[in-house]
Amino acid sequence: MRVGKIAIEEHFGIPETVEKESNYLPGDGWQELKQSLLDLEGKLLPLMDQHGIEKSVMSLTSGGIQTVLRKQEAIETARRANDYIANLVAKRPDRLQSFAALPMQDPEAAAEELTRAVRQLGLVGGLVNGFTQLETADNLLYYDMPQFWPFWEVVEKLDVPVYIHPRYIPRERVSDIQGHPWFSGSAWMFGVNTATHALRLMASGVFDKYPKLTVILGHLGETIPNTIWRVDHRVKMMPRGITIKKTFSEYLRNNFYVTTSGNFCTTTLLNVLMTMGADRVLFAVDYPYEIIAEAAEWFDRVDAISESDWEKIARTNAERLLKLGKSKAAAV
Ligand code: ZN
Repeated sequence: MRVGKIAIEEHFGIPETVEKESNYLPGDGWQELKQSLLDLEGKLLPLMDQHGIEKSVMSLTSGGIQTVLRKQEAIETARRANDYIANLVAKRPDRLQSFAALPMQDPEAAAEELTRAVRQLGLVGGLVNGFTQLETADNLLYYDMPQFWPFWEVVEKLDVPVYIHPRYIPRERVSDIQGHPWFSGSAWMFGVNTATHALRLMASGVFDKYPKLTVILGHLGETIPNTIWRVDHRVKMMPRGITIKKTFSEYLRNNFYVTTSGNFCTTTLLNVLMTMGADRVLFAVDYPYEIIAEAAEWFDRVDAISESDWEKIARTNAERLLKLGKSKAAAV
């Protein structure tokens, strides 16, 4: 086992809202998952000890705030979630950090909450669970929309990253998966929808206006590193209204980080490294939806990358990006 890893897509729930996520795994499995989301000290910390994870960077589990239809409820729940996790972080600052939950139903309130979370609570950035539903279930907000640009301006000023994490997509919205329920979750549509969201941001020009923005994607980039060359290639031939200043590949390399959450595949990791470079990749598990032992044992034994790349992915990229204090523990 190698110690000193920092894992940056790890999830918690809050007692008031955790039952809303029970659709994820009904029955006995849900009870266990719920305990894992609620009892970080009892469940997560021992697993971190067993598998060489020094620090976990937490986030409110999906769909979290993004599925709350009413604006005021979203704002209040985000504040409660951020206060809750900040308390736990304050108890164990050596082992836990967190991204802030954001009420994107109200972009101005989201910017204010991110500012409060970073400046007052000491959290390290924001995490949104995909698009946000506002007022009605079929009113979906994607963050390239004009009302979110002032939010991105604040994010850039705060100099913190925003993680775009997947969420369930209402099945009836995607006609080509009707009759095939397995598509709508983490096996496929999570990645497709999140990748589409990231490409929308790139195509919007938001990274031209705010060139220091940093967005994090999980699951080794939600397939984008595999497909970005073709996106550039075809958009160059058929721009269809796209007027951005750089190529999609340049935004990917300059404005994005990707994590290993739930994608413990060496060939995919190597492709990401060749596309984005080792400074842009971060270790993550996706607790409690993935097994920490599996993630850690895979990453500890990856021998197809250099020692210095391993160190970057395991911890030093996260320390730099999230401005985490240097720890006393050795990285090997
Ligand atoms: Zn996750």
